[in-house]
Amino acid sequence: MASPPRLIVLGSGTSVPRADRATSCYLVDPGDGRAVLVDLGPGSLHRAAAAGYDLDHLHGVLMTHIHPDHSADLAALDFALRHPGPRAGLPPLPVWGHAAVTLLHARLRNAWPGWLGSGPERLDMQVIGPGELEVPGFTKAEAFQICHAESSLGYRLTLPNGFQVAFSGDASEGAQLEELGHQSDLFVLEAAAPHENPVRGHLSPERAAAVASSCQAKHLMLTHFYPEVLADPVEPRVRTAFEGRLSLAQDGMIIELVC
Ligand SMILES: [Zn+2]
Ligand SMILES: [Zn+2]
Repeated sequence: MASPPRLIVLGSGTSVPRADRATSCYLVDPGDGRAVLVDLGPGSLHRAAAAGYDLDHLHGVLMTHIHPDHSADLAALDFALRHPGPRAGLPPLPVWGHAAVTLLHARLRNAWPGWLGSGPERLDMQVIGPGELEVPGFTKAEAFQICHAESSLGYRLTLPNGFQVAFSGDASEGAQLEELGHQSDLFVLEAAAPHENPVRGHLSPERAAAVASSCQAKHLMLTHFYPEVLADPVEPRVRTAFEGRLSLAQDGMIIELVC
């Protein structure tokens, strides 16, 4: 059933458990009532179902990298599809990501022999690198190399209405980060660490703002907040470098994706 094109933040947090911020997961519905998930932090599938998108309503999953706060529900997904009910009669569910994601999936199956992957294949693990990929429901999809982990890819999705939304995953400056967000309508960018206490492989709000300004993103959404970065107000730190529309991600936040 048709729905407004939208992004739903399912998890804006990190590995540190918080009552108000779950681990990484974002849902993009291009307007056809089905969605792609970007990342599968623990509990993502439950949160997607609570938002109205059970496994029957997924086009697939885009994985930014294999750190557990972004990937732990891969085992839960495989186990859920062992049950004959979800996605009955539908083709295998695509999971796109770096080769390390497929390797992780194989290792998870080895860890639970007889429980994961014992029935008909219902996942379609697709190894991708930087470049274009085919994602059902979207006019165009591109992956970009990101400096964070060896397996890191960012994604830029073009909706049928022309709206372009980009996801950095965990990121630091370099590689293709600015190309990923270049003049995007919405750039979902991580700002995990305080500027005064940098964490290798992550951005601070100030550095994320500079990246968004440099690549002329129209709307910046900062996310993936470690508790330390929220100790002081974030917006004034962003305004040192970025003047465009700003959202600070919260779980459950819905952004309509219209130009
Ligand atoms: Zn990470
Ligand atoms: Zn992370």
